[in-house]
Amino acid sequence: MSDPDVVELAKRRGFFFQANEAYGGVAGFYTFGPRGAALKRNVEDAWRRQFVVREGHHEIESPTVVPEAVFEASGHLDTFDDMLVECPECGASHRADHLVEDASDVEDAESLPAADVEELLATCDVDCPTCRATLADEPVTGFNLMFETSIGPGSSRAGYLRPETAQGVLVEFPRLKEYARNQLPFGVAQVGSGYRNEISPRRSLLRVREFTLAELQQFTAPDGDGPGLEPVADQTVRLYPADAQEREGECVELTVREALREDVVANEWLAYYLGRARQWFERVGVDPERLRFRQHRSGELAHYASACWDAEARLHGDWVEIAGFAFRADHDLSKHDARSDERFTLFREYDEPKVVERPTVDPDMSHLGPEFGDVATDVADALESLVERDPTAFRSEDVTVEVDGETYAVPVEKTGFSVDEVTETGEHVTPHVVEPSIGIDRVVYGVLVHSLRRDEVGGEGRTRLALPTAVAPTVAGVFPLTDDQADRARELADRLTRRGIPATYDDSGSIGRRYRRQDEIGTPFCVTLDERTSDDERATVRERDSTAQVRVLVDDVPETLASLRTGETTFAAVSREYDDDCR
Ligand code: AMP
Repeated sequence: MSDPDVVELAKRRGFFFQANEAYGGVAGFYTFGPRGAALKRNVEDAWRRQFVVREGHHEIESPTVVPEAVFEASGHLDTFDDMLVECPECGASHRADHLVEDASDVEDAESLPAADVEELLATCDVDCPTCRATLADEPVTGFNLMFETSIGPGSSRAGYLRPETAQGVLVEFPRLKEYARNQLPFGVAQVGSGYRNEISPRRSLLRVREFTLAELQQFTAPDGDGPGLEPVADQTVRLYPADAQEREGECVELTVREALREDVVANEWLAYYLGRARQWFERVGVDPERLRFRQHRSGELAHYASACWDAEARLHGDWVEIAGFAFRADHDLSKHDARSDERFTLFREYDEPKVVERPTVDPDMSHLGPEFGDVATDVADALESLVERDPTAFRSEDVTVEVDGETYAVPVEKTGFSVDEVTETGEHVTPHVVEPSIGIDRVVYGVLVHSLRRDEVGGEGRTRLALPTAVAPTVAGVFPLTDDQADRARELADRLTRRGIPATYDDSGSIGRRYRRQDEIGTPFCVTLDERTSDDERATVRERDSTAQVRVLVDDVPETLASLRTGETTFAAVSREYDDDCR
């Protein structure tokens, strides 16, 4: 279910609405209106400030159309599937795992094999939500979520709209490591569109077919130190570990330091980013009381992840994933290394050169040729790769390799196997990847749900979006109370926008109505110029949430609002300063 109040407000006040409605619209696509686009941009900028600038990472921008080979290597082509069941009567498509979850007390049907979900459809007697026909005997199939496209005319190449931004970073690792001067750790971030051909988009912005991801690929040395927890060590995080889920236990509230020390979160980088994310979510308006981090259970892990925690927000009664924090280890880089012509490793020099034993082969082609014909070269390649992986295989009389599913036995004496002593100055390592991946649309939706308040001011009801100043679409409404002040108010609004502070001028209707309009779109401050302004050169600055007011020198308003916006000062501090000033 989506929140009808938020959806109604979003449409009426220009946050977001169904796209292409003039042509009936297509499920899963939304347009962000003027206020929503500004809110979303502010959330993205807040993400950049934290996860790129403050961390000293690099940001890149890669194409959204990606050739097939990349997703073949990453595993998305084979495994990026959801479970589909189609209604035999009306033809509607549904997520089989979601139907099973709705009809039973199974909580995580996505992690079950398709055959089990098929069985559950039958035992739970599940009907088609569209036409109520039974789905009990219908097959459950894997549906790949990537949008396929073709690149160029004629005998074009297959391509896909990216389902995540991550591959755009990972596939460029050979170049990115140069920019990082071959030193680990380093991080590369990207904010941009991701596309998933969801079987049944639903719940407003929560499950759409095009959305914005803010992802960071943190490259780390496999045996290296963590980031140092200091900046987040005392930050508390609410964690729901896999074992607590299994015994239907409770979340635990721990500091990041405790979570790592008690091995609740096993990886220091993950622990660090959970702490950072907890701080960031609060800063952009996710209610910390309605936020938790849930560990994936083993059956639930994505094909690329060896460990994962989701950030979940409580939204209209459900816990909804808004971000994922995955330990991808060397999954992607190894795959790209094996399949492409580039090296996805990093050369790490030893402090001192080392003399090591290196097993090698030099296959005798005069034996392999007549023996294996067309596949002789492939057999030789397989021997070379085997000696790197498992030199012990060459200890017996014959060594066996596999080529295209066939096995071939080669006498060891014909492989040219030898172990030489060589001096090595360093080694190639495949970095590990830790990935905080934030779904911006879900965060924006969560922020709207968590910010929406209804209260009373002066006996009148009002709707208020308690958005943090840092992300509010408009920072100040500027109102003249009398016609005399109109030019001055316009000029002040102009000064604010010239300083980069989003401000809006409004002279229509009663002052109460003007306040309500701004409260409803989350504008944190309103500045009113009235008949006293000509005498005392002051304007009234009113804070949205408390409705408290303070009279500030008109000339100081831009500086004051700029400091309030960046969080350098608070409204309480401004009030104290000006109250003292007025005494
Ligand atoms: P994933 O790669 O599946 O872990 O997704 C990363 C993040 O993208 C999730 O935590 C969500 O916030 C967001 N996300 C995934 N799928 C969708 C979708 N269909 N609509 C909106 N956001 C999504």
